[in-house]
Amino acid sequence: MKTKGQEPTLLIDEGGVHKLIAEYPEQLELSGVSRDGAVIYFALASCPFAGRPHRDQFVGQGKTTILLRPDSIGFKCFSDDCADHTFAELLRHLRDSTGRRPSMSIWASRNGSGSRVDDQALGWRDRRDTRRK
Ligand SMILES: [Zn+2]
Repeated sequence: MKTKGQEPTLLIDEGGVHKLIAEYPEQLELSGVSRDGAVIYFALASCPFAGRPHRDQFVGQGKTTILLRPDSIGFKCFSDDCADHTFAELLRHLRDSTGRRPSMSIWASRNGSGSRVDDQALGWRDRRDTRRK
């Protein structure tokens, strides 16, 4: 059950994405970071869903990418096999394949606002949401 059209408040920043990638070295291998205006692209050398690079995937090409915008984060894999995977699914995949949760908060919980937060949907408790600022 996801509510669309209302993004939860994003807590993770560029340094946080680097940290997230570093916490899952078996799944996430950063091949390059680029920027386009306010968007930061974290290109991955290999697709975490495929468990390997896709065909035609060369390091630095950004076929599989984490996109960080000022108020949202996304996952985009340009392979047809992965077209519909979201960042929340990436987090779930990382957790399921490693048994570990990321150490940082991705989104702020907005309890009582009626908006479902993806990490709540994933069954995670945000340890830092009470001291959000
Ligand atoms: Zn993929």
